[in-house]
Amino acid sequence: MTHMAENILLWFKNDLRLRDHEPLWHAAQRGNVLPVYVVDPRAFAAHPLGFPRTGSFRAEFLMESLAALRGSLRAIGSDLAIQTGKPEEVLPVLCAQHNIRQIYTSAEIADEEQRVMMHTQKAVEPLGVEVCAFENNALYRLSDLPWPMERLPDVFTRFRNDVEKKSVVRPAWPAPSALATSFSLDWGVVPMCESLGAAAPPPDARSAITYGGGEPEAWRRVEEYLWQKDLLRVYKETRNGLIGPDYSSKFSAALACGCLSPRSLYEEVLRYERERVKNESTYWLVFELRWREYFRLTALKYGARIFHREGIRQQPVAWHQNKKWFEKWRRGETGVDFVDANMRELWHTGFMSNRGRQNVASYLTKDLKIDWRWGAAWFESQLIDYDVHSNWLNWAYVAGVGNDPREDRYFNITTQAARYDAEGLYRQLWIS
Ligand SMILES: Cc1cc2nc3c(=O)[nH]c(=O)nc-3n(C[C@H](O)[C@H](O)[C@H](O)COP(=O)(O)OP(=O)(O)OC[C@H]3O[C@@H](n4cnc5c(N)ncnc54)[C@H](O)[C@@H]3O)c2cc1C
Repeated sequence: MTHMAENILLWFKNDLRLRDHEPLWHAAQRGNVLPVYVVDPRAFAAHPLGFPRTGSFRAEFLMESLAALRGSLRAIGSDLAIQTGKPEEVLPVLCAQHNIRQIYTSAEIADEEQRVMMHTQKAVEPLGVEVCAFENNALYRLSDLPWPMERLPDVFTRFRNDVEKKSVVRPAWPAPSALATSFSLDWGVVPMCESLGAAAPPPDARSAITYGGGEPEAWRRVEEYLWQKDLLRVYKETRNGLIGPDYSSKFSAALACGCLSPRSLYEEVLRYERERVKNESTYWLVFELRWREYFRLTALKYGARIFHREGIRQQPVAWHQNKKWFEKWRRGETGVDFVDANMRELWHTGFMSNRGRQNVASYLTKDLKIDWRWGAAWFESQLIDYDVHSNWLNWAYVAGVGNDPREDRYFNITTQAARYDAEGLYRQLWIS
């Protein structure tokens, strides 16, 4: 070596993996690396409506993911420091104690996450620490998109057509096989969910998510869904299902925590197309990943507006704030059995199908005319796969204040139930 290795702090957030992790890859080449995760109590605080911002399903999945990441880092000669507090307070202390010169991390998109990054940057600047943020959880690089961000299409179909023709997905970064870590500190423990106010939920045999948190579990599910059960072949026909693990991929929880990167998944689908079959179903899974991408970019374009009552369309709607009916909806006690079955599945397992989500969101906003942000907040708390961009923008979309204003998003629940749960099996499963 011709120069002393730099001390780099690698700040993990929703990117809890080793594969296709650009900041990790570069840090591994360049320095003596201190991997850190900061458990931020603000994420676990109570929402004004009375439930925690992070409920027990997501908290449990996150803690499992942290334990797994620590295991993977140990296996390559490193470790994961786990600290509790606000990153803008915790990280400067670590930087000063360990003579850190650079923080490597993932760039953020949503408003609150960007603010935490900004505050952290301000807090470490006086220590001479530079923050390097990499685009780390996306399918496309911003510079590979065919338009500047302010001209991102407001209609998905245009976005999709353009990226399909003009943008390429770059190759995923490999996982490093070794990581130099030479620091002496108290590495901390993975917190118990209870200590964060989110007691671990009792298991439910009806749960559609059958894998746990962490990168190895995520790949186990990929292996199972694509290669063992060969389900990708029929995804387009089964994706509107309601019961069990197999009608859709269930990759969402792993993608939300970043245990799986969309680029690695994309590469795996291409491999499946080469080795098994290339058909409408394989195209459709990538199509859905493009929806995910589209919502990330829309969030970047519109900033905090995605959380506003009027939405990105600045659409004035007289939303009701009726707590009594909101509670009935939340608990699955509206008396509309298809809505109630879905809300109970969410309550008991932290998951609901895409078909279910569209229906219960339409019911809350179009039938009960209740503030869409309340529904989005309950999903934020309860969904095991909560993702800030996908959740808030899907809600806005169904509520009519988001993208694609030309389409009416009203779902006739009776017709939907008759079509997608013709024999009533789904309703029977959740309403006994
Ligand atoms: C009101 C509402 C709220 C939602 N909240 C979330 C959320 O917080 N987190 C989340 O990941 N998804 C959310 N979705 C999108 C979608 O319902 C879930 O991604 C999907 O049901 C997860 O199951 P799966 O992984 O089996 O999906 P699959 O059908 O197997 O799809 C594969 C992947 O594509 C992506 N995807 C699929 N549909 C969408 C979509 N409509 N928007 C964005 N990405 C999509 C997901 O990453 C998913 O894992 C929401 C949808 C609605 C209508």
